[in-house]
This record gives sequence, structure tokens and C-alpha cells, in this order.
Amino acid sequence: MNPSILRLHHYEADSRVNGPGQRFVVWVQGCTLNCPGCFNPQTHSNSQGFLMDVDELYQQIYSQSNSIEGVTISGGEPLFQAPVLEKLLKRVKEHTSLSVVLLSGFALDEIKKMPAAQKLLSFVDVLIAGRFDINQRLNNHLIGSANKFLHFLTPRYTPADFNIDNAEVFIHEDGTIILSGFDPLIWK
Ligand code: SF4
Repeated sequence: MNPSILRLHHYEADSRVNGPGQRFVVWVQGCTLNCPGCFNPQTHSNSQGFLMDVDELYQQIYSQSNSIEGVTISGGEPLFQAPVLEKLLKRVKEHTSLSVVLLSGFALDEIKKMPAAQKLLSFVDVLIAGRFDINQRLNNHLIGSANKFLHFLTPRYTPADFNIDNAEVFIHEDGTIILSGFDPLIWK
């Protein structure tokens, strides 16, 4: 694996449902956790998506840094690319005042046994952690099932900051339509 290349599924520069305020959201590509009922199965393959250099992605984020509150890393499973994401988030934290929210299918006790993930978390303000469990599903902002938890790793935010809308739709100039958050047709 090239230590500066991320495999990504998609990114958006102006999301409002992936954490507090307007955020640059990165969905990484690749996840082998296979949660039954996963709402984002198109992110699972480790051979799909596209490759992007960390420097290029950082420049995209930096170009938006005056108009956004922070960066959210979702997936796919971000921790499978933890060393490369660490490079990205380290630069974000060193050169901007942006906050960082990270969503993972791993629970915090699992992450504590993963050295690379631990290093990554030193650049994260809020971790949303745990497998998606379809039998405990919620459509509660960024919490997809009741066994997932918000972990406030820095004082930047409180639970009240996560009182956000559940879904948004991006319509791009090329006609591409992207749904982010909970699909209202499925998550009743
Ligand atoms: S960790 Fe997330 S992306 Fe991976 S299978 Fe579970 S819900 Fe889907």
C-alpha cells in the first residue's frame, strides 16, 4: 500500500448532516466487517472507488477551510486506512482550526488494541464507534443503531452539537444524485 494514497468512495465539501455545522465529508472505500443490513454496501469492495493522494485531498479540504466547521471521515471502514488518514488529519489539525469527526464500525475497546488507529484518534474530536446492528437500528442523527456510541475525545463538542438533520441530497451538475444520512424511504 502506498503510504500517501487513500482509496475513497466519495467526498462532498458542504454536508450538513455528518456532524456539527457545514462539513467536508470523506467516505473511504473498503470494509470487511459485513454488518448485516449495512446501509452503504457499495463501499465494501477494496478494489472499487478511486485512489487519491493525501496531499491532493488535504488541498481540497484546505481550500474550503474558511467556509466549513470541520471534516468528517466515514465509509467504508476508515480504520483500515488509519496510517494514511493519520497523515491527512495531522495536517488538518496542524494547519487549520477545523474539527474532526470519525465514524468507525469498530467499538472503542477494539480500537484500543489497534496501535495505528490509536494514533489516528489523537487527531479526532468525536468518534462514533461500533458495528451497525440492524436489530437495534435507529435513525438518530449519526447513530445508526443503539449499540453505537458517540465518544467525545476533546472538549470541542457536546451531545447537543449532534442534534442535526438526518438526511440530505446532493444534486451535482453532471446529474449525479447522492443521498447522505438516513434514507427516509427505508428508515421509517
Ligand atoms: S462497518 Fe459500516 S460500512 Fe462496514 S459493514 Fe458495518 S455498517 Fe457497513
